[in-house]
Amino acid sequence: DAELDALFFRRWLTAAADAVDREAGRLTELDSAIGDADHGVNLQRGFAAVTAVLEKEEPATPGAVLVLAGRQLISTVGGASGPLYGTLLRRTGKELGDEPAVGRQRLAEALGAGVAAVAQLGGAKAGDKTMLDALLPAVAALAESFGAARDAAGQGALDTVPLQARKGRASYLGERSIGHQDPGATSSALLIGALAEVAA
Ligand code: ADP
Ligand code: MG
Ligand code: MG
Repeated sequence: DAELDALFFRRWLTAAADAVDREAGRLTELDSAIGDADHGVNLQRGFAAVTAVLEKEEPATPGAVLVLAGRQLISTVGGASGPLYGTLLRRTGKELGDEPAVGRQRLAEALGAGVAAVAQLGGAKAGDKTMLDALLPAVAALAESFGAARDAAGQGALDTVPLQARKGRASYLGERSIGHQDPGATSSALLIGALAEVAA
């Protein structure tokens, strides 16, 4: 049944911003090992802007919340993750259209389209050691429950450790990217964790 309304989505993104604030140091630390040490700061800036614009404009539907948030991430985050997360939210929001509320299955389908748009934009696939390695299993598990999605994203992030990066800055390191957890997969697990938290 359709119970996830605009307020639910605003609470999700606020919880995501809180999680990013809490874990920014860790995200930047992970990015300093295989990137340029800005992932935590990038997402802090982006999600702070998202919560600010949502408070100001109070979009009335789930789709409008996600489209506005996605646009904000694209315009405030300089790194690769801004356009990618922005595309994720914007595309997911477009899929939800102007329905006043949606159910979990509908959200799972829309997020699936959002994740596919991320894959298309970044040219990455499963196993390339990117955010997709948390997002793809999370979307698949969301058909079951919010908790299953959170657990799948967390496991997907952990599973990036032995992988060699094939996309993004970390790929410049070649085999030296092996043995480190991907920062973007880690932040994706935070975002899905925040979703499960507000749904509980
Ligand atoms: P930048 O690499 O520009 O500094 P961030 O540090 O904010 O950007 O984000 C890095 C994260 O973005 C990576 O850990 C990875 O998960 C994700 N990423 C980078 N390139 C791609 C891509 N082509 N497809 C999917 N995700 C990517
Ligand atoms: Mg970086
Ligand atoms: Mg950067």
